[in-house]
Amino acid sequence: MKVLEERIRQEGLILSGTVLKVDSFLNHQVDTELALEIGREFGRIFDNHGITKVLTIEASGIQFAMATGIALHVPFIYAKKKKAVTLTERVYAASVHSFTRQETYQVSISAKYLNANDKVLIVDDFLATGAALVGLVDIVGQSGAELMGVGCVIEKSFQEGRSLLEEKGVRVHSLARIASMSPGEVHFIDNDRIVHHA
Ligand code: 5GP
Repeated sequence: MKVLEERIRQEGLILSGTVLKVDSFLNHQVDTELALEIGREFGRIFDNHGITKVLTIEASGIQFAMATGIALHVPFIYAKKKKAVTLTERVYAASVHSFTRQETYQVSISAKYLNANDKVLIVDDFLATGAALVGLVDIVGQSGAELMGVGCVIEKSFQEGRSLLEEKGVRVHSLARIASMSPGEVHFIDNDRIVHHA
């Protein structure tokens, strides 16, 4: 998605070899028009898949799952990272290890909102090690729903997430795929260009 790659070039900050900061337009301050366009793009890609629910994980997947749900005219569900006191009913849960924070946490959703009749599209902001998305794939499996695919806004293709998901037979579609990056330089897979930003 060219407009997204352009924004990453213009505003993305590479903090280290592996962390890309996109706080100004994606996951702290959110460019709402861009988020809606991202939702429409996922909507186009997964249009004829009979999706009934979009699933993401709090917090930074929510705006893209909502935009995708709007495009596909279906609800979205976000997995919670802490078991809320209001979640007293049966849940589907999975453990996720965060390599960035070096901690393991539980993600869960109420069993009420996903069942064997559902066709699910998982959406998230980043695909890095894949740990968070593997947790969501696990949750879909517990529900008996059919997983139609995973949509990621930004994929860091030099990390193992995509292959981890593909090994599980999951179809992954990312809107911007970063082959490599270093301060001031981002190399995208699709257009094979090395770009510089100020
Ligand atoms: P995972 O390693 O499980 O694929 O990524 C887990 C989560 O860490 C992502 O959903 C995203 O919120 C966050 N994350 C991973 N890599 C980056 C990054 O380079 N930049 C930002 N801003 N978040 C990241």
